[in-house]
Amino acid sequence: MVTALYKEFSDLLGDECVSACPADCAAYAYDAAGTAFVPPTLVLRPGNADQIAPVMELCRREGLHLVIRGAGTGLRGHATPGGADTILLALDRLCRIFSIEAEDRTAHVECGVTAAALAAAAAARGLWYPPDPGSMCVSTLGGNLAEDALGPHGLKYGSSRHYLLGMDICTPSGVTAYCPATAPHGLPLAQLVAGSGGQLAVMSRLRLRLLPPPAAKASLCASFGDTAQAAQAAAAIMASHLCPAALELLDALARQALDAYAATGLPQEGESILLLELDGHPAQVSDDMKVARTLLTEQGCQSLHQLDTQQTEAFFVARRALPTALRRLGQNTLCISTRLPCTRQPELCRALAVLSERHRLRMACFGHAGSGLLHPVLLPDAGQDVQEALGELFHVVQELGGTLEGGPELGQGPWLAQPVAAAPPLERGIQQVFDPTGLLYPGNILTLQQAQTCRSDG
Ligand SMILES: Cc1cc2nc3c(=O)[nH]c(=O)nc-3n(C[C@H](O)[C@H](O)[C@H](O)COP(=O)(O)OP(=O)(O)OC[C@H]3O[C@@H](n4cnc5c(N)ncnc54)[C@H](O)[C@@H]3O)c2cc1C
Repeated sequence: MVTALYKEFSDLLGDECVSACPADCAAYAYDAAGTAFVPPTLVLRPGNADQIAPVMELCRREGLHLVIRGAGTGLRGHATPGGADTILLALDRLCRIFSIEAEDRTAHVECGVTAAALAAAAAARGLWYPPDPGSMCVSTLGGNLAEDALGPHGLKYGSSRHYLLGMDICTPSGVTAYCPATAPHGLPLAQLVAGSGGQLAVMSRLRLRLLPPPAAKASLCASFGDTAQAAQAAAAIMASHLCPAALELLDALARQALDAYAATGLPQEGESILLLELDGHPAQVSDDMKVARTLLTEQGCQSLHQLDTQQTEAFFVARRALPTALRRLGQNTLCISTRLPCTRQPELCRALAVLSERHRLRMACFGHAGSGLLHPVLLPDAGQDVQEALGELFHVVQELGGTLEGGPELGQGPWLAQPVAAAPPLERGIQQVFDPTGLLYPGNILTLQQAQTCRSDG
């Protein structure tokens, strides 16, 4: 069967775009979540966006599942096959920047371009592409939009979807269309597809908005005696009239991992740090810096340093590598994303300290504190079971009125299996319009049973 399929897809795309080689297929069984799934039957890497519709049609005809993949840096297992007879459509070769229209502040690109490449092309024309997820040098704009990725500057400048002007899509039902982000007389389909995690359609070509860069920037690095206090200071900043460009929190272990990984030149005092960046008109930035200094001092910071542009840039470069730096600290790392109101983050930090102590489990915590997005990272020793600690964390976050996301390990928790297994009826209905035959494989949400099957398979 594989040979026959290989021939059909090769005839369609050319040999160089199709692989059935077990080593290639095994490599695509993973994304950055790090958990192995079932390898795909074939890997397709088209070099032209017009090849996507025929691929969809052939998959439909043969009754195959299809998983869309950008660079595979996702942390939730979305871009990996969840079962047999799955074709993996990798879009990283669609990486042309067609144009930067400086006067219109727009870019026209293929979905496989990285955010870093677009930011560089925009900068060459005196413009700025703000979305800056930590993976921006590797992950694709298609993947960023599908996951609505958000980096440190998302606090003031929004997530990837805020820069979307329109996209060419190809649905499993065979519809190809250009969807503008705003549709005055219809439904904003582009906004629906972006953020859908590859479950509705393939985005191929994108029109994105660019901004002029801020006229001035300034940063402060404040250190605190403990992480809850740093989170409390972040909440105080967000409750003031300040509108920081970025407000990042790193606890002691995260900072230790960063220091071991790269020379950041960050101040060594205190346990946890907050990095605050302000930008805008020079006079406004100068006034805001005074307010920020006062606020952070009132919140009991142990030290306060102003960073120059080079130091700030060095921080953000190192910060992007933090998940990798943390992985060097232990054999296993389990990175969780929590979304909470800023005012509840200190309680989360306190709860993490208690959990870490009770379960004798090393934990780090870092994140976009101003956006309410913190990442507790579990660093279990070899063979240490984390399910009980994960369950408690789940309940803590729930009680604080937040949400929790993570890699496939979360789908293995008995406390999660039922609530996440089935999509709500309204979402299922929408999915059926785009994908009536269930062609796009829902590899992103695992029931407990599926997770166990995957584990025993792999
Ligand atoms: C070191 C590191 C740092 C990270 N930092 C951040 C961060 O700061 N902020 C953040 O939000 N995330 C972050 N992530 C997670 C990840 O990088 C992002 O989710 C990223 O957007 C995924 O892009 P990708 O191209 O790798 O997509 P993939 O992982 O390949 O796919 C992700 C999802 O997008 C879908 N998809 C991909 N391309 C398309 C397309 N063209 N059309 C339709 N669907 C598509 C896939 O089906 C899948 O569901 C980080 C990951 C790592 C490893």
